[in-house]
Amino acid sequence: DLALLEIDGLTVDLPGPHGPVRVVDGVSLDVPPGTTVGLIGESGSGKTMTALAVIGLLPAGAETGGVLRWREENLLTASPARRRSVRGHEIAMIFQDPLAALNPGQTIGRQVGEIPRRDGKSRAEVRRIVIDLLDRVGVPDPATRMHAYPHQFSGGLRQRAMIALALAGNPSLLLADEPTTALDVTVQARILRLLRSVQEDRGLAMLLVSHDLRVVAHVADQVVVMYAGRVAERGAAAQVLRRPAHPYTKALVASVPAVRTRTALAHPLPGAPATPANRPSGCAFHPRCPLARDRCRSEVPAVREVEAGRWSACHFAEEVLGGA
Ligand code: SF4
Repeated sequence: DLALLEIDGLTVDLPGPHGPVRVVDGVSLDVPPGTTVGLIGESGSGKTMTALAVIGLLPAGAETGGVLRWREENLLTASPARRRSVRGHEIAMIFQDPLAALNPGQTIGRQVGEIPRRDGKSRAEVRRIVIDLLDRVGVPDPATRMHAYPHQFSGGLRQRAMIALALAGNPSLLLADEPTTALDVTVQARILRLLRSVQEDRGLAMLLVSHDLRVVAHVADQVVVMYAGRVAERGAAAQVLRRPAHPYTKALVASVPAVRTRTALAHPLPGAPATPANRPSGCAFHPRCPLARDRCRSEVPAVREVEAGRWSACHFAEEVLGGA
């Protein structure tokens, strides 16, 4: 099975006041065609920087290492022109805040139609494409609404418009960074269903970045859990969330109140998340880990396959899996 996107040992260094800070530290993951991969972590876990590296929109001064293999090509060494053409056409991104991503001075229709227009489509074709796309993402009365400006849309409609914009270039991979965090709960559920359905009927691959386990559990086939810039665990979503192979995942799952029973008996994670600028020695999770012992403080755990299709970066993953 050839992955559409294969990230291999990705590193991202950002300039900091005391020298560069490694915010992504050797991340490897695959996105197979047509699947949704959920990238979970607290703030500072490096999940957003990983997505920005893929789309080629890292902050100025960022240095990267490793390989981002996109269909046989390493995007990290591709020319700026090639990266621009990949962006939008092959890989598109949906952001948390559509107001920041949309141009306030341009109508929704104009923005959604920009890529088809640049591709040389006629006015009539662009109009048809825009109306189709807005209709597909559930914007009511698209022939009229395409003339509206972003501020005239509700939060949910703006998010739909941004999804339409992302789909306009017919990408094979959609990156979604906290796409529903700014929305209220009922709208969140609708946007997630929409993302899942466009993903399914276009055979799109999706990398969904979220701090919210419930969001990821809803839509992801595969899950990658990140902590302090590194992969803690990855595998099939149902398995990872039901039977974690890393104490951090286990704590994350325990911190979420069961959705169905609406129980308030969640156990918040102890301590503060490690930051890449202040990464603890050995296993970065050790100050918060109930299983930590001497080895954890001195030796960085390798990400290893602990069961078929399950990778964990815990020295004692077998113990965690065994229910200890
Ligand atoms: Fe905990 Fe040690 Fe595993 Fe890290 S390596 S998660 S500190 S048991």
